[in-house]
Amino acid sequence: MATYPNAEWRPLAAGSPGAPMDAHDIVCVHTMVGFLAGTESMFRENGWAGTESHLGVGGPADGALDGTVYQWVDTDDQADANLQGNHRLISIETSDGGDEKNPWSDAQLDAITGIIVWACQTYDIPAELIADSTAGQRGIGYHRQGIDPWRVAAGEKWSNSNGKVCPGDVRIAQLVDTIIPRVQAQVSGSGSGTVSTALILDAISPDAGVAGDQVVLTGSGFAPADGVSFGGVWVETWTIDSDSQITATVPEPNASGSVSVAVSTPDATSDGVWFSYADSSTPPSPPTSSLTLSFIGPDTSTAGSQVVLTGSGFLAANGVSFGDVWVDTWTIDDDSQITATVPEPVTSGSVWVSVSSPDATSDSISFAYEE
Ligand SMILES: [Zn+2]
Repeated sequence: MATYPNAEWRPLAAGSPGAPMDAHDIVCVHTMVGFLAGTESMFRENGWAGTESHLGVGGPADGALDGTVYQWVDTDDQADANLQGNHRLISIETSDGGDEKNPWSDAQLDAITGIIVWACQTYDIPAELIADSTAGQRGIGYHRQGIDPWRVAAGEKWSNSNGKVCPGDVRIAQLVDTIIPRVQAQVSGSGSGTVSTALILDAISPDAGVAGDQVVLTGSGFAPADGVSFGGVWVETWTIDSDSQITATVPEPNASGSVSVAVSTPDATSDGVWFSYADSSTPPSPPTSSLTLSFIGPDTSTAGSQVVLTGSGFLAANGVSFGDVWVDTWTIDDDSQITATVPEPVTSGSVWVSVSSPDATSDSISFAYEE
């Protein structure tokens, strides 16, 4: 019996599905073009016969079930979602509310990552994208790799529904760009059998303050955390309240402005969230006229380089500032674009950039000086 520990075990019928897996080579993601409950009742109609996947992940269209994982088939046994691949694939269906163009939600990304980490560790599956559906490929894949016309000639056929895009371009991009890197960060020594939830830092509250303040970090996978950093400064006083919450005392900064806060475990570092040290980095007050700044590109660079600011109301501009430094060389290209030369900073790290006119200051956008 093999079930994912964070899944709700919901077998489709009594007894066993019958055919054991020959191998566990690939974790394959699907999209439901539907909802979790509807997919489950379709799977349940014929018990162990007919179509079903091993696991299913609810989405935003399922309300409170967003990120909930159901397991319908034991991963020791075959599920019937991948035709010729059933004998060696673990299948994960994911809710999309009826449109495969909907991206996975944050909760779904966390849930899918958790399942794949578990599968890679339990079955020693490489945490990498498979090239195609041919025999011998082992890793993480998606349904379309075995569907014509995307299937390579020698590949296993994973569906007879030619042209089925499952799980769709948006979700394939998320698998490659977000999920697989997260899985790789968390799988250390595959086959170790260790189950870990995804290390995710969602929020910091409050997100501004001064050294010595207490802040609460929320996310998931905090249990094995061994460090919290604010802009590269390790926090001395912090507590793991639960797997989803850490309380930390804001350390003395080594720079003014906004810093990226991250949680580390022995195996991974979370994404960063921003924290602003209040004395020097409070963003200027909101705009009082139609002067807006919406984009700076690039947003990371060095003094002396050129950046382009995009927004509106720029014809009235009489100044551009990076932190507390006014820009010497800048040009109003038109009412929605300014080109500026990045000034020498007074501190390292990130600064707030804004555009000023005689009677207004724009919103601020963060710009980071490259070290
Ligand atoms: Zn599919």
